[in-house]
Amino acid sequence: MATRAVLRLKRGHDRARVHPWIFKGDVADVANAEAGAEVVVVDAAGRFVGRGLFNPRPALCCRIVTWRDEPLDEALWRARVADAVGRRASRRSDAARLVWSEADGLPGLVVDRYGPVAVVQCLTLGMALRRAVLATALREAVGTLAVFSADDPVAAGLEGFPPATGWLDDHGGPDTVVVAEGAARFLVRLGTGHKTGLYLDQADNRLRIAALAAGRSVLDAFAYTAAFACQALVAGARDAVCLESSPEALAGAVDNLALNGVADRAELRDANAFDALRRLDRAGARFGLVVLDPPPFARTRTALPGALRGYKEINLRAARLLERGGVLATFSCSHHVTESAFESTVREAATDAGVRLRVLGWLGQSADHPVVLTVPETRYLKGLLLEAC
Ligand code: SAH
Repeated sequence: MATRAVLRLKRGHDRARVHPWIFKGDVADVANAEAGAEVVVVDAAGRFVGRGLFNPRPALCCRIVTWRDEPLDEALWRARVADAVGRRASRRSDAARLVWSEADGLPGLVVDRYGPVAVVQCLTLGMALRRAVLATALREAVGTLAVFSADDPVAAGLEGFPPATGWLDDHGGPDTVVVAEGAARFLVRLGTGHKTGLYLDQADNRLRIAALAAGRSVLDAFAYTAAFACQALVAGARDAVCLESSPEALAGAVDNLALNGVADRAELRDANAFDALRRLDRAGARFGLVVLDPPPFARTRTALPGALRGYKEINLRAARLLERGGVLATFSCSHHVTESAFESTVREAATDAGVRLRVLGWLGQSADHPVVLTVPETRYLKGLLLEAC
């Protein structure tokens, strides 16, 4: 019989009882563990904590999968995937996140569904080694699916496995998929663009904000493939200006605006949104709905002060661009920017702009990106829905 692989935590490093991440600094010693394989995690006194997948290479060297003493076998993966899919059963959209890593008890695995296609992203060696088993489990839970791998090269580099991109099976699948989100439709080109194709974490917010859009002029800043603008225009917005600096994203925006039959009411500007917002402000432009959905300005804690200055700058400009009764939907997707820091920054921006903003709502990520209270990293997208009063 194979010797048990055991990872022993240092005394006092007990966060692993509620949080799946174990860093090298938490570890007293490791015996018999192989890269990508299962380990039993015990505390300093040798008491069972959980079982996880180990990788000696990255600083985050183990992620706990179960806090029960059960093997990480095919039955467990199948049950976890089925649970994750079941949790989304009430979502009506055909584009949805099916598995979200730590939040679904499958740390290191992300699965997004676009109609007949599942895009699988393995973020750890342990998950990459189990890709085929996980794909089988997915098909069991969902039905027939073409599975496309879209690993993140940065994560794969840290973990030490070749990032997979492409169809899992020889027969492949479609190059593009059109998915519905509420009354709008979006084109997804597999293997291109950001995330797995769409920012699914903003889906609920897009629908909520579109419901306010009728008759308004929209500014969609940091537009990516113009998903917010499309939703707003389909919901009856008068017109929209989209600001975006990536040529690939702009090409996707052209496709989406045409697909929704709203291209004649939209203007795409290939622009740095910081400069464009300043220019619009100086020109005295006014909008009834402004969406600010920038990339994460703070990828690390040290980048935080600069990031907050960036958020303040764009929110100040956006506040000044609002007509009376105008709505501002403003977001931060940096985990390092807390809700209160974001709120303070937007408050300072509005104060400097001399604009009073009533809070219509506090926004977060879509419900298919659940949050685990003891794993604060699972809560990253935050936003404010504001109205100039
Ligand atoms: N709102 C979009 C997602 C936006 S992601 C949606 O719902 O789908 C952020 C976008 O900002 C990316 O497409 C990125 O290319 C773009 N971006 C980053 N920096 C920018 C800048 N300085 N000016 C304009 N666009 C920028």
